[in-house]
This record gives sequence, structure tokens and C-alpha cells, in this order.
Amino acid sequence: MKWLMRKCKNCGRYVIVREKCPFCGGELYVPHPPRFSPQDKYVYYRLKMKIEGRILSLNTEEKTS
Ligand SMILES: [Zn+2]
Repeated sequence: MKWLMRKCKNCGRYVIVREKCPFCGGELYVPHPPRFSPQDKYVYYRLKMKIEGRILSLNTEEKTS
């Protein structure tokens, strides 16, 4: 079964898949991606750690200088 629900970025209403929100004409997006591959998850966590590591190093640099 295909995921047919979309959520409006503008008003937050759920609608059946169509080009634009029937209530406000806002842009629609898929609220819950039906699939999440393990590879994507891995990339996500690597990116997250990379960003957090950078923030951490920036914080320590500020403290020492
Ligand atoms: Zn809307």
C-alpha cells in the first residue's frame, strides 16, 4: 500500500496526496517517510557525530583561548 498522506508546511493539515494544500495552497511534504535504509541511518549518525564533534572542539577552543 502506498503512503498517500501529505502534510502542509504552511497550516499543518493532513491531506490526501495532491500538488498543493486545498486549504491554504501551501507546499506539501511526506510526514513519515515509509522507508529508512540502514545506510541512510549510518550516514545520518556519522554526520551528526561530525557536527557535534565540531561544536565540541569549538567550545574547548573558546575556553582555552
Ligand atoms: Zn495548508
